[in-house]
Amino acid sequence: MITTDTCPSCLTRGIPAAKERRRGLHIAHGYICRCGHRWATARLISAYPTRKAA
Ligand SMILES: [Zn+2]
Repeated sequence: MITTDTCPSCLTRGIPAAKERRRGLHIAHGYICRCGHRWATARLISAYPTRKAA
């Protein structure tokens, strides 16, 4: 699963998640932008569609 986000500091799009951590029903992604800004987002795991491995 590749997740990306937009940097809230310099607005660069498509920053890939550097860390992924599950906590209960939420999954948190940590991002580190090229500009040095760091932030994290948390989402419900159920928001992601489940895919079957081919
Ligand atoms: Zn940035």
